[in-house]
Amino acid sequence: MHEPNVCYERGVTMFSASSYPSHMSRSLFATVALVAAVAVYGAFAAREGARRGLIDDLPAASGTATPPKPAGTDMKPSTTKHVYSRAGWEVTPYSKSKVEELATKLTPEQFRVTQKSGTEPAFCGNLLDNKKDGTYCCIVCGLPLFTSAHKFNSGTGWPSFYTTFDPLHVAERSDSTHGMERTEINCARCGAHLGHVFEDGPRPTGLRYCLNSASLQFVDKGQPWPAGGEPVKTETAYFAGGCFWGVEHTFQQAPGVISAESGYQQGKTKDPTYKEVCTDTTGHAESVKVVFDPTVITYRQLLEGFFQMHDPTTMNRQGPDVGEQYRSAVFCTSPQQLEQAKAFVADLTARNAFKKPIVTQVEMARDFYPAEEYHQDYVEKTGRACHNVNPWPAIFGTAVGSKPSAH
Ligand SMILES: [Zn+2]
Repeated sequence: MHEPNVCYERGVTMFSASSYPSHMSRSLFATVALVAAVAVYGAFAAREGARRGLIDDLPAASGTATPPKPAGTDMKPSTTKHVYSRAGWEVTPYSKSKVEELATKLTPEQFRVTQKSGTEPAFCGNLLDNKKDGTYCCIVCGLPLFTSAHKFNSGTGWPSFYTTFDPLHVAERSDSTHGMERTEINCARCGAHLGHVFEDGPRPTGLRYCLNSASLQFVDKGQPWPAGGEPVKTETAYFAGGCFWGVEHTFQQAPGVISAESGYQQGKTKDPTYKEVCTDTTGHAESVKVVFDPTVITYRQLLEGFFQMHDPTTMNRQGPDVGEQYRSAVFCTSPQQLEQAKAFVADLTARNAFKKPIVTQVEMARDFYPAEEYHQDYVEKTGRACHNVNPWPAIFGTAVGSKPSAH
């Protein structure tokens, strides 16, 4: 039995056989570690879920992140770190000057509410009785904040919702003005004051997000998003580099990667389980689906990272994990990706970047089946330190197209 807190090497760095569970013992190891991890995580998630409204059957409400601090004066916007919500929007805080520029387009009432933390009189807002299907977006920056699916009649005179469009879209901070202890809510991106959240809402969250109509713009279902309110135009790529836990975790560290999800791909059976894939008879690879923002990270950079985070020279094997499911592969979602990935491998080969021949499979992607929930975010859930190579600082610190480090 291995010490659960010892992370095994997943990359091209040298393995110590004793520090890495064998292929056969991995499922037992995983089961024991996961039972503990899932129990702890489950309790955390249940608590957070109740607090934040992260209930599975709620549309668009997802993620487990702590509510962000609002943009604006008390949060320094970063010029390099891009933050994305699970729903697929970029929520990197806007700079003060950008907010000021956007605020010039507001009406005096919208300005008073969003920029001066004003409150509109009860029963006066234009969205209080709105019962149409659609999304409530920030009046300043257009970010979707709430949906009609979560709106309810609170009787307070202000539009009320029991959860957010996405937990990362609405920030919270304590507000002790007017002799009360309240929790102010703001647009996470532009910092616009929206209202407050109270713990006297209906099931399933028990929360009441109390909004000013003046801070919102309503978009009918099926209508285009307002300016600035569009989701990120993403692309998808798939990479198989041995056990998906570490590969997923490493891609999640990359700037511009919106999500990385573990799954089974390129096999012969439908919707396989981990147990079935472990038999090494279904033909699936343990694969990671990477959704990324191509304006921040290019496919080429993803390839560079991938070839640094695993060993592409061992056939159907990654360290002591042996079997076809641990093969090295790039599964492409477009002919352009296919061409680029093949050229990338050919270039590495021509330059003898690796001491042994590259055996990475490069082909068009077929069915991807997400792995069981306990495999997702495994490294984060278990809190185990990971010795994986983190290729991203070097890749983003050098010119695109530079030579990946040889091993
Ligand atoms: Zn906003």
